[in-house]
Amino acid sequence: MGIRSAFAVMAGKLTAKMLHIMGRGATSLPGVVMLKICPNVLGAMAKDIKVICVTGTNGKTTTCHAITDIIEANGYTALTNSAGANMLNGVVSCFMNAATLTGKVKRDYAVLECDEASLRHITKSFGKLDVTVVVTNVFRDQLDRYGEVLTTLDLIEQGLAHIPQVDLVLNADCSLTSSLAFSTKHKSVTFFGVNTSFDEQSSADISDAVYCIKCKTKYKYRTHTFGHLGDFYCENCGYSRVKPLIAVDEVKAFNAASADVLMSIEDKQYDAKITLPGAYNIYNGLAAAAIGKVIGLDDKKIIASMSKLTTPFGRMEHIPLGDKGVEMILVKNPAGFNEVISFLTAHCTADDDILFGLNDNSADGTDVSWIWDVEFEKLSTRIAQIGGDKQTFFFTGKRGEDLEVRLKYAGFDTERFTLDKDYRTLIQTLKGTGRHTYMVLSYTVMLAFRDKLGEVVELKKYAR
Ligand SMILES: [Zn+2]
Repeated sequence: MGIRSAFAVMAGKLTAKMLHIMGRGATSLPGVVMLKICPNVLGAMAKDIKVICVTGTNGKTTTCHAITDIIEANGYTALTNSAGANMLNGVVSCFMNAATLTGKVKRDYAVLECDEASLRHITKSFGKLDVTVVVTNVFRDQLDRYGEVLTTLDLIEQGLAHIPQVDLVLNADCSLTSSLAFSTKHKSVTFFGVNTSFDEQSSADISDAVYCIKCKTKYKYRTHTFGHLGDFYCENCGYSRVKPLIAVDEVKAFNAASADVLMSIEDKQYDAKITLPGAYNIYNGLAAAAIGKVIGLDDKKIIASMSKLTTPFGRMEHIPLGDKGVEMILVKNPAGFNEVISFLTAHCTADDDILFGLNDNSADGTDVSWIWDVEFEKLSTRIAQIGGDKQTFFFTGKRGEDLEVRLKYAGFDTERFTLDKDYRTLIQTLKGTGRHTYMVLSYTVMLAFRDKLGEVVELKKYAR
């Protein structure tokens, strides 16, 4: 490491220390300072480390978490950033935190969640390094972020252009994501995917990629999981899904915490348990399994690791509030919200209350009209079947009323609605119900709500 980069690391550590003394959390400012002093400080710190970047619209945090689980379970060390630090400054700060005073980072791997628009700024420093990039999927995010899916895809391509020697790990079932194998330079590609349909889970109405990316003909599907994901093909030009190396061939059983599946790695089949909740997380588990393959683990170790995956902060995090506890779930766009709706439709019982929280800050999306693309009707049908009249639907956040209106139109019984925008009193209410609650919250509601929860119960620290 050169003198300039070593000096930058020291300055970063000093900045972090001062922020700490001032009682302020530090995620991005140290990075800003370090990059000012030495623009290539990231490349210098990452020099001896194998870098794994995870990008895509949904599942980045869970996938990073699962990859870190696999890496650590097999005796390697890893550093990883948190969801709130997935842009360049945050990534630089995260390396700095793991570095010694002289700037040495003693880890085998860096598992980096990379915002789609920031990937190109992050990979710029990694041109000469051993880098793997995982792309989970490309969906439409909230209306006012990044615009169309093709813009997102283009941003990811720009990120990959800096690292022509990259090992790619791609979702075979996403026609947008898998097109990266043909549109970019790379050393290798490993595809992961699902070789079966998720019947109950499918939400065919939301499709962000209806037409062939090459010739604009409508795709056909042999199997379909959710959104635009599945075994797609174009009858006109022949563009079609590539058979994935790592796949789930059959889902034998789902429950609220895991899925029992038949998994294939190359041509061998294995019974496996993926210990992540919800059908949509099967993809995140598979992405981690694909990384296991890329880093050279044998099949047995990969399969064993699948049954020891854990969920990160905000992704179905269990919090011991009241008698039965609550599960906190983050939602940030229609596709992600629809998967949560599928999960609740499959697992919600008459004994579960649901809290919905929505803000319209920039991190949540300032235009909340996207909630009209969420299939709440599916959940209301299920709730009506469950019967039970004890269920309460709580609403909170600056735009809680918008959600009330949306759910009213979806057929929910408004008599069971409770709106409370004061997180402290709402927490006391939830604590006193004696019932279990699913909390479905947008990003800034979750952060603020979790803060207040921390006053009442002990929470896991979310950066690791
Ligand atoms: Zn075509």
